[in-house]
Amino acid sequence: MSEPRRNAGPAVSFQPPDRILMGPGPSQVHARVLAATARPTVGHLDPAFVGMMEDLKVLLRRAFRTENDVTFPVSGPGSLGMEACFVNLVEPGDTVVVCRNGAFGGRMKENAERCGAKVILVDDAWGDPVDPAKVEKALKSAPKIKVLAFVHAETSTGALADAATLCRLAREHGALSIVDAVTSLGGVPVEVDTWGADAVYSGSQKCLSCQPGLSPVTFSARAVEAVKKRKTPVRSWLLDLNLVLAYWSPTGGARTYHHTAPVNALYGLHEALVMLMEEGLEASWARHRLHHEKLVAGLGRLGLSMQVAAPYRLPQLNAVRVPEGVDEAAVRRRLLERYGIEIGAGLGALAGKIWRIGLMGQSCTARHVLLCVDALADTMRG
Ligand SMILES: *Cc1c(COP(=O)(O)O)cnc(C)c1O
Repeated sequence: MSEPRRNAGPAVSFQPPDRILMGPGPSQVHARVLAATARPTVGHLDPAFVGMMEDLKVLLRRAFRTENDVTFPVSGPGSLGMEACFVNLVEPGDTVVVCRNGAFGGRMKENAERCGAKVILVDDAWGDPVDPAKVEKALKSAPKIKVLAFVHAETSTGALADAATLCRLAREHGALSIVDAVTSLGGVPVEVDTWGADAVYSGSQKCLSCQPGLSPVTFSARAVEAVKKRKTPVRSWLLDLNLVLAYWSPTGGARTYHHTAPVNALYGLHEALVMLMEEGLEASWARHRLHHEKLVAGLGRLGLSMQVAAPYRLPQLNAVRVPEGVDEAAVRRRLLERYGIEIGAGLGALAGKIWRIGLMGQSCTARHVLLCVDALADTMRG
């Protein structure tokens, strides 16, 4: 019996091409991290592995700048970390204020609605920062707001939110904060305890420069309390904190099976965090700032300008205006074909209008900047 034609492809190993990753993620993964993930798989309840998990939690607390006990990587991409925060903190009938100034704020709205919340939207233009005055007005507009949700680093636009102010406003109005720190963690200051943030999620593949597929999260004591006091069970079995913590953070008693942890992926995240701590968080923030400034200067010499105003610009995600008459998709295609460089396209309101150049983690070096500017100069000529 011959197989159907469409399944007749050859069974050969996949060899990825050699790429220079300068898009909105994933970023370049260091050989040390790749090597770490190739180490032997052990059981996810093996005492040696459990020791690694405990170290990983400490490293994540240092990266998030928090003492939160409940700090661990969700087994899934950043989007699953987002979902974990919403399904645990939001119950049907709750009122949630969502700040939307880009694609990811829009996803937060979707999440809140799917959890049965009544959503009050605070809209700002794509590329503008979240306006705290509007947020304050929204927080005052309803009697009991359960959650304020916002994106710290809007990867779709390159704008940074004033997280300290927004988290303070949430607290003043008795609301919990959900903060998207997927693109910010490791690239710009994330100060979970100083801000008084309640539920913060990130991603492995942006400024942490690890493979995609893991989402570090941290929950304040207040947030954990709110999950425990829910009137209804968390709708997601996989993401229910009460269940996941039996594996990641058992309070007395033994660690028990919840789901099989992605063992090798966690080796990689551990190694990426070790590398971040070797460099130092502040040094990493300074490196992102330095190369961002070099990139902006280099792009300026090509006559290119930035979409976001300087005070709110993310160093790790540069939204560059596509000049009049330039075919933005053709430039991206030539960058990939001639130089193996990947940059990102605009999304939503900014589709066709910007390129998104990532300087995240290991993709944030002088070499990347020089290469990108020169390659853009060449590929814009045709
Ligand atoms: C990338 C990103 C996400 C989603 O992460 P995935 O790993 O792609 O699921 C969420 N929020 C922001 C701000 C992001 O940049």
